[in-house]
Amino acid sequence: MKLLEERIRKDGLVKEGNVLKVDSFLNHQMDIELFNEMGKEWKRLFSNVEINKILTIEASGIAIAAVAAQYFDAKVVFAKKSKSVNLDGSVYQAKVQSFTHGNVSDVIVSKKFLGPEDKVLIIDDFLARGCALEGLIKIVHESGATLQGIGIAIEKGFQEGGKKIRNMGVRLESLAIIESMDAASGEIVFGK
Ligand code: 5GP
Repeated sequence: MKLLEERIRKDGLVKEGNVLKVDSFLNHQMDIELFNEMGKEWKRLFSNVEINKILTIEASGIAIAAVAAQYFDAKVVFAKKSKSVNLDGSVYQAKVQSFTHGNVSDVIVSKKFLGPEDKVLIIDDFLARGCALEGLIKIVHESGATLQGIGIAIEKGFQEGGKKIRNMGVRLESLAIIESMDAASGEIVFGK
């Protein structure tokens, strides 16, 4: 998606440790006009499949998913990072390792909000190693819902997540795929 690539080129900052900072428009200050265009693009890409629920993970995925949901006639459910382990069987649970912080957290989704009747599109801001998506996919499978596809804003194509997820046979649509980026020069190269 040209608009997103141009914005990353203009305002994205490449940091050490393969981290791209996009907090001026994506995950701290948020450009809702851009989010709307992203939502329309995912709708165009997934127009041939039924979707009634968008699943994301807190925190950065929530706003992107909420704006996108307007184009899908779908409810948004976000996986919550939980400090306490739930033992009463009322939630689906997965462990997710944070790419940016390294720590592992339990994420939960209430069984009230995801079940076998749901047709799910997963949306998130970044795809790096794929840990967040693996956790969300596990939750979808456990719930008996149908996973229709995954929409990612920025995929770092030089990390293994994209390959891992596509190898599972899941349809993955990333709006911008970064082939390489260099912290010293700030150069960012996009794939097709
Ligand atoms: P993964 O689980 O695929 O390794 O990483 C995805 C999650 O880590 C995303 O939900 C996102 O919040 C965070 N993340 C991964 N890479 C980056 C990055 O380069 N920049 C930022 N800001 N967040 C990232």
